[in-house]
Amino acid sequence: MYDTFLIKYGEIGLKGKNRHVFEDALAKRIGEVLSGIEGEFRVRKERGRIYVHCAGEWNEDEAIDALTHVFGIVGICPVVIYDTEDYAKLEQDMLDYVGREHPDCRATFKVKARRVNKEFPMKSMEIDAALGEAILEHFPGMKVDVHHPEILFDVEIRENVYIYSRVIPGPGGMPTGTSGRAMLLLSGGIDSPVAGWMVAKRGVVLDAVYFHAPPYTSERAKQKVVDLAKIVARYAGPIRLHVVNFTDIQLYIYDQCPHEELTIIMRRYMMRLAEHFAKQDGDIGLVTGESIGQVASQTMQSLVTTNAVCTLPVYRPLIGFDKCDIVEISEKIGTYETSILPYEDCCTIFVAKHPVTKPLLSVIERSEKKLSEKIDALFAEAVDTAETLIIE
Ligand code: ATP
Ligand code: MG
Repeated sequence: MYDTFLIKYGEIGLKGKNRHVFEDALAKRIGEVLSGIEGEFRVRKERGRIYVHCAGEWNEDEAIDALTHVFGIVGICPVVIYDTEDYAKLEQDMLDYVGREHPDCRATFKVKARRVNKEFPMKSMEIDAALGEAILEHFPGMKVDVHHPEILFDVEIRENVYIYSRVIPGPGGMPTGTSGRAMLLLSGGIDSPVAGWMVAKRGVVLDAVYFHAPPYTSERAKQKVVDLAKIVARYAGPIRLHVVNFTDIQLYIYDQCPHEELTIIMRRYMMRLAEHFAKQDGDIGLVTGESIGQVASQTMQSLVTTNAVCTLPVYRPLIGFDKCDIVEISEKIGTYETSILPYEDCCTIFVAKHPVTKPLLSVIERSEKKLSEKIDALFAEAVDTAETLIIE
């Protein structure tokens, strides 16, 4: 019965003079996600509102699913648009709406009218009262509850009358492309896809880097990372994914350095390589899925040593999260099922039985000196042989 969505956005509404920049980015992103599904969609901006008009062979579930992946949207409201004339017509339209949208008509409700078109001859509160009474009269199962109504009928009187009562939650955040780019270190685990999603939610465009160690890690492990990137890309837009062969660097570290320092030194090389690709891609930050104390390489002392090799800021959106909180988000965004597939990860292959948990930067730097002979060449080779995929 409806062919329009009213898009509610949150924080963008708090912006000042540059608000239109965010609204334009949101409208653009909505257009992009809808262009991937069947139907004709027109995105219209009008005085602090964004509407999506749907035509052709469009499917409600598909359209709503696409819109729930757009950062910046807090609510998606199916809205019915009526012509504005006078109060008598408005009342008729309201009763038509209630009868069709809520046919069982047993609920508590409240009417909230907003008169944007000041030429309409009644004030908002008068409209609330009159429409409320009309609903009570025609639908005996309906009861008013002004504090906690089960159904809130929003009635906006503009050039037309817009009536809606359903708000489907969106993901919130800021529209994609309004905050710069960052390089996500994306593994096949649970944490890093969530970390990337959280940063992307703030409007950041993502590039990603994945380190694999063939033949120790399989093609399936790599495919898993590609699949995770695809899920994140549904929200974040296309992701440029660099797949870096890390085997020779790992083996060299394994040969030259104390085994209990292996993970830390390896992590430092991951950060260095990630930063290399970040600079190449125009990224102004790195993103990881680290959380204080989760494993030996994520104690505060370990983070000092990995952080020391970076010149770009490292964003760790999960830093204070418990694992169960991260799992909850990964289930919500749809990465969990893929993340728990049991394929080997390059970090787990060479792990020491007793890794250092409180590494000293000076000690780690001294151990790394043992790599001086070949590491530059191996680093350059890892860069040169990296494969770059665009994940849509
Ligand atoms: P995740 O669940 O994200 O894999 P984790 O709990 O397994 O994290 P670590 O293996 O210590 O933790 O990795 C910490 C972070 O380093 C990850 O969140 C990710 O950002 C990055 N990282 C780890 N392994 C890789 C990899 N193979 N390729 C790219 N980034 C990686
Ligand atoms: Mg991992």
